[in-house]
Amino acid sequence: MPTPVYLDNNATTRCDAEVVEAMLPFFTEQFGNPSSMHAFGASVGGAVKAARASLMKLLGAEFDHEIIFTSGGTESDNMAILSALEAMPGRDEIITSAVEHPAVLSLCAHLEKTRDVKVHVIPVDGRGLLDIAAYRAALSEKTAVVSIMWANNETGTIFPVAELAELAKEVGALFHTDAVQAVGKIPLDLKSTKIDMLSLSGHKLHGPKGTGAFYVKRGTRFRSLLKGGHQERGRRAGTENTPGIVGLGKAAELALIHMEDEVTRVAALRDRLEKGILQRIPNCFVTGNPAERLPNTANIAFEYIEGEGILLLMNREGIAASSGSACTSGSLEPSHVLRAMNIPYTAAHGAIRFSFSRDNTDADVDRVLEVMPPIIEKLRALSPFWKGANEAPATFNPVYA
Ligand code: PLP
Repeated sequence: MPTPVYLDNNATTRCDAEVVEAMLPFFTEQFGNPSSMHAFGASVGGAVKAARASLMKLLGAEFDHEIIFTSGGTESDNMAILSALEAMPGRDEIITSAVEHPAVLSLCAHLEKTRDVKVHVIPVDGRGLLDIAAYRAALSEKTAVVSIMWANNETGTIFPVAELAELAKEVGALFHTDAVQAVGKIPLDLKSTKIDMLSLSGHKLHGPKGTGAFYVKRGTRFRSLLKGGHQERGRRAGTENTPGIVGLGKAAELALIHMEDEVTRVAALRDRLEKGILQRIPNCFVTGNPAERLPNTANIAFEYIEGEGILLLMNREGIAASSGSACTSGSLEPSHVLRAMNIPYTAAHGAIRFSFSRDNTDADVDRVLEVMPPIIEKLRALSPFWKGANEAPATFNPVYA
């Protein structure tokens, strides 16, 4: 069996060995509760403080109390929107985009059903870019919060969140960004923006699963979701997950060290994979915005076949990638992101996301380029749709048209 190739790093990353090593003492001798007054607590409290400082550095935050530790991206996204609705009385509208993660979209749908809240879902174009005119039109004195992601998890498309935040401020609304896929992959500097709140997740940046953080700019109105103890200055009750926090801090430190590699070498691997596939396989195209996107993500739509079939055959060859987001896999509906981009069903059904990390090598790309053409050919030979189309030019190619 050939060496496995892992290209599903937007779903989750391998926890770095240095992260694991940094965490271990906090399961054993450093077991104290950081809130305790005695020495056991104090040494752990110091480690939590150091982790907060390394997150501040990665995000370009100005004050340590702007970072709140959470259990991950989903909790932080929920925290932002629910806090804003409570903290902004008289405002009952939310603005979001059609391509957000379910952590935002399903919460918004739930709020619309169960509370007197109006949600504006802003559409995107064929490259996944936000309709700015529709965004401006939706903003009003009634907007409590805008929640728009920094980068899309399926296509890697980057949104101009700093500009979007400026526009939100003009009507006095709070601005939140789900930066789960952006943090650690591209440089961020929050202190130079008007972004009020940001979500991040540890397991997307070689940190431990079930860890994350919430950034809330100094002076931003905030209401805590969890009621209980005074941890995190009363903003997130519950004894801190100290091994997880220490691991997240280490992952943030390493992300800064590896950032240059991510935006150069990793991006070059991604580009070589895309070019190689487009050269070798007819009727496929890259989705998303080629100009502004994450360095690690390639989403390629193979026409007239099913993504599930492609993944299955890739898996037999030891190659892991994904179709749509891991959270929606299992459903035969094409991804809501590709549907929002108006990608035809014949192509959206066969879209595969290849997501790289610093662990990937040239040998990984070579292996995928060797294995993909026969897989696609085999599936197309079985596809009734392919027989009709038979190597006609790709019907839709928003990126390389
Ligand atoms: N937001 C985005 C854009 C994501 O990609 C994910 C994970 O897939 C999440 C939120 C949820 O993060 P977590 O798994 O830490 O809850």
